[in-house]
Amino acid sequence: MRSFIYHGLPARVIFGSGTLAQLPAEVERLGLTRALVLATPQQVGQAEAIARTLGARSAGVYAKATMHTPLDVTEDAMRVVAERSVDGVIAVGGGSTTGLAKAIALRADLPQIVAPTTYAGSEMTTIIGETKDGRKVTQKSLKVLPETVIYDVDLTMTLPAGLSGVSGMNAIAHAVEALYAQDANPIMDLMALEGISALSRALPRIAADTLDREARSDALYGAWLCGICLGAAGMALHHKLCHTLGGAFDLPHAETHTVVLPHAVAYNTPAAALAMGKVAAVLGAGSAAQGLYDLAGRVGAKRGLRDLGMPESGIDTATDLAMANPYWNPRPLERAGIRDLIARAWAGEPPVA
Ligand code: NAD
Repeated sequence: MRSFIYHGLPARVIFGSGTLAQLPAEVERLGLTRALVLATPQQVGQAEAIARTLGARSAGVYAKATMHTPLDVTEDAMRVVAERSVDGVIAVGGGSTTGLAKAIALRADLPQIVAPTTYAGSEMTTIIGETKDGRKVTQKSLKVLPETVIYDVDLTMTLPAGLSGVSGMNAIAHAVEALYAQDANPIMDLMALEGISALSRALPRIAADTLDREARSDALYGAWLCGICLGAAGMALHHKLCHTLGGAFDLPHAETHTVVLPHAVAYNTPAAALAMGKVAAVLGAGSAAQGLYDLAGRVGAKRGLRDLGMPESGIDTATDLAMANPYWNPRPLERAGIRDLIARAWAGEPPVA
């Protein structure tokens, strides 16, 4: 018999194509009169177009969102929030922009509407990671959970092929770790396997044609489900390792997840054989680790941490860091195995159980 605790997070999700047209109604529904639209500098045009649709309810645009939510950017944004009497934020972008919205919500407890344009899944979680003096600190708070999420497939059509692939693999990583989480439960299993299935079908098609609307829709649907997994289940070796590597060597987020995932899965499979067997079946592969490695290849992702800029000398440093702060993992952390995992990920070799 399986015992479990299921704890769902509240969410209002609007999904489809052209759904961003419902934004003014959502702004009104939440009673916002001065909504600030957030974006990265790369997506400022999109943010300005959105602000225009809000008319008098817009408090303009703040387009300085940055990867890993640096504190100085948040403090600058908080000044704008105060100056313009902002009473709600709208994030249009990936995890970096959602991160800024969450950082503002954490401080000012303002409602958030998030329109994701990548597959990172942050919009479904109470997790916020912030960086100060090069150190990323993560915490959980219900305050940062968005009030409304508008998934509009149209917003993802411009995501370049390369970023689509690694962003989708990042999403799959959430679902994979939810399946062997300490607090895994049957509802989460259903979402995780459905999410992996949708993304693994869609990502190679997007790699071949970024304008494949059906594949884009499947990918965004899968990313939503995987985001729920990230928000509801505790993450283990894979996410901790990516966090450590990203912070220590300033590696790009989604790309690092893509490289590490097959190796973390290979390490954990002996202790999570049933769950990883289900992933292998969904991927149509002999093993989950090999299936994920092959999928990363099919989306054209870089295979090794060395290709992302990590020096070889970093293998031992990363091993030390990974062993320094123990946490729950289905398989206990063994130094030799962890070093081997990191070394293989660094070189871009296939995973070995
Ligand atoms: P990102 O938000 O940094 O976006 C990468 C780049 O792609 C940016 O320049 C962005 O403007 C651009 N971009 C995004 N969508 C686009 C589109 N549709 N068309 C064209 N360009 C587009 O990347 P990400 O991988 O989504 O987010 C990574 C960040 O999110 C990291 O800091 C990570 O830690 C965080 N994150 C947090 C959580 C959480 O639960 N707190 C979950 C996942 C990721």
